[in-house]
Amino acid sequence: MQIFKSPFFRKIFLLLTFGTFVGFGTLTLWVSSAVKSSFRQTQLKALEDMKNQYKRSLLGWFAEKQKNIEGLARALAYVPEIDSSILRSFREVYPEYADIIILDKEGKLFLSSGSAPLKMGLDLSDRDYFKAAINGKTFISGFFRGRGRGLATLSISAPVLRPGKAAQVVAGFITLQKFLKIFISEEKRTNTPFPLLSIHFINTRGQVISNPVYIERYPKDPQIEEDPAFRSDSPPVAQLLKGAEGALVYSYQNQGYYGAFSWIEPIQIGLILEVDQDILERPLDLQLRSLVIASVVVFCVLVGVLVFVLWYLSKPLAQLNQAMKRVIHEGPKGHIVLKKTGSHVDVLVDTFNELQQAVDQRETRLKDRAARDSLTGLYNHGTLQDLLKKEYSRRKRSGKPLCFLMLDIDHFKDINDNYGHAAGDQVLREISRILESCVREGDIVARYGGEEFAILVDSDKAEASLALAERIRSRIESHKFAVDGKSLPVTVSVGWVCVAPERVSGHTDIVKEADDFLYRAKEAGRNRVFGQANIP
Ligand code: GH3
Ligand code: MG
Ligand code: MG
Repeated sequence: MQIFKSPFFRKIFLLLTFGTFVGFGTLTLWVSSAVKSSFRQTQLKALEDMKNQYKRSLLGWFAEKQKNIEGLARALAYVPEIDSSILRSFREVYPEYADIIILDKEGKLFLSSGSAPLKMGLDLSDRDYFKAAINGKTFISGFFRGRGRGLATLSISAPVLRPGKAAQVVAGFITLQKFLKIFISEEKRTNTPFPLLSIHFINTRGQVISNPVYIERYPKDPQIEEDPAFRSDSPPVAQLLKGAEGALVYSYQNQGYYGAFSWIEPIQIGLILEVDQDILERPLDLQLRSLVIASVVVFCVLVGVLVFVLWYLSKPLAQLNQAMKRVIHEGPKGHIVLKKTGSHVDVLVDTFNELQQAVDQRETRLKDRAARDSLTGLYNHGTLQDLLKKEYSRRKRSGKPLCFLMLDIDHFKDINDNYGHAAGDQVLREISRILESCVREGDIVARYGGEEFAILVDSDKAEASLALAERIRSRIESHKFAVDGKSLPVTVSVGWVCVAPERVSGHTDIVKEADDFLYRAKEAGRNRVFGQANIP
């Protein structure tokens, strides 16, 4: 392509392309990272809001459970004969309870709804839920190993006050399995704006207690709470164990996540809501990919436009350059050398045309100066030879005679000797003017050399040539030459010929013939005209 041949346009192209590339790249990266970071902030905020809402609903649920047990305890205070049917019907209304028990004020099992294999009279006075309730307080415990079936269980206990004093303790048990079933339900997981949300719970040891394997193994493995296999060291677990709550984007086991976490104090477990980063960011990534593709397309279009503009600018320059080269090799044709293109280089075209004309004029002047004799302004010897040769060829074709005169100033040496060279020069110049005034337009007058002149007559008539020779001789003879106020006589001798071209072998013969007659005129006494027509 033309523009890439020019180092200037190549440089501009590379610079602008590079600049556009860097600009676009930076802009694209900046927009991408700004969009991504704002997306993350928004998503984290939404996830944290959701976690808070989830936590509120969880705490609300436990507050309700607490009220159930308190209500049961209040009711029991007025029942004189308590039997297990009351507890069973309570369980029918609230099936989330695995078991309901009543302890006497010594902490011995008094009554049970009968779902756990517990012996009446079993001493449970060491349990926190008993200790708290017998002291008049409603109590929610964390998960512990249940004594009956060894399941992970939490308890909600309340005192049965008769009258104003804790006479018994009523406690309801909710297994971890039941708790998870309620709080990690499919509905809770899918009814959110987050795709594939996962919900985890941890205990105070950092173990993930929502792991199904943990729940399954729990009853059979009394050491399970010491098992490090269930412990997680993911960033939200680490944060929870430090007592923090919040939301963050993190990477765990080569996988990115968005997570929001909080401690559920009453039951001493940590809640983590977690979303897969790849899945969440997929729509954003697609958008960003579109942005990058759009940037690349716009970049390509800009480069295309750049190439076009550079081509558009460089084309007339290339055309001008070509036209100039043509002018250099072929010379100007006509007055207007280059034609205008109607583009931004027309000012250069104008200047070039002016330059070309100036060069032309100077060349013509130089040629003319080289063709003439500097002292007299007449054609010089070389020019005469050329013209004579050309004229001879022309006459040869037409067959017409060629007439030629040779003149020599008589005793010119004496003028130089007596009056000085300057005077001699002046005489040469004056004679030149006389010669020019004697000839007709078309006759060629030349200084042949020294004080000799020649005239190529624009006529083929011998009489006309003789008449011209005589006219010149007499005009010079009668002309008043003067040096320093003193007049000096000047005469010339003339030899003339009118030669048919076929009578001689070349133009030099014609000069020789005229010169011979000139010599004879000198011999005959000077100031005279000798010559003849050499025509068949
Ligand atoms: P003749 O009648 O036989 O022609 O005698 P002449 O003295 O004219 O001839 P000659 O050849 O002896 O002398 C020519 C002189 O012309 C010699 C030379 O110094 C002089 N001359 C030639 N060119 C110039 C010139 O340009 N200026 C001047 N002042 N003198 C010139
Ligand atoms: Mg001479
Ligand atoms: Mg002479």
